[in-house]
Amino acid sequence: MAKVESFTLDHDAVKAPYIRVAGAETGQLGDKLSKFDVRFLQPNEDSMPTSAIHTLEHLLAAYTRDYLDGVIDISPMGCRTGFYMIVWGTPSVEEVATVMTKVLEDVVKAEWTDVQGTERGECGNFRDHSLWGAQEYAKDVLAKGFSVDPFERKVLK
Ligand SMILES: [Zn+2]
Repeated sequence: MAKVESFTLDHDAVKAPYIRVAGAETGQLGDKLSKFDVRFLQPNEDSMPTSAIHTLEHLLAAYTRDYLDGVIDISPMGCRTGFYMIVWGTPSVEEVATVMTKVLEDVVKAEWTDVQGTERGECGNFRDHSLWGAQEYAKDVLAKGFSVDPFERKVLK
């Protein structure tokens, strides 16, 4: 069976919130892709309700692309403690931490009309959104800061 990088991470040893590289791939033509673990909450201690993480998903889809080129996808983890982001190239953890901090600052300032794709035809569960919840979790993460090391708190100033 394939070995999956994220299942080899010691989820009890990490100190959220943090950003870490969870994978890197090089295609046949030499193009590089990176996968980032963008962890908001401490695994097995806390998790976001689906409404909050769902609205964050919609906001992050737009805001990460405002600050970072080559974003392919940013999607919620099933455990609801954070997101995986896949991008072209090899941005540094420091760059991604800076970007995600700006993104969450924008989330805190967002109005409901800034959340894209919330109509029935645009979303798979349009009833399950909470901008208030998204903003409360964004504020919590900003107050702690994203560490650039998953195991030791190293927050950029
Ligand atoms: Zn949706």
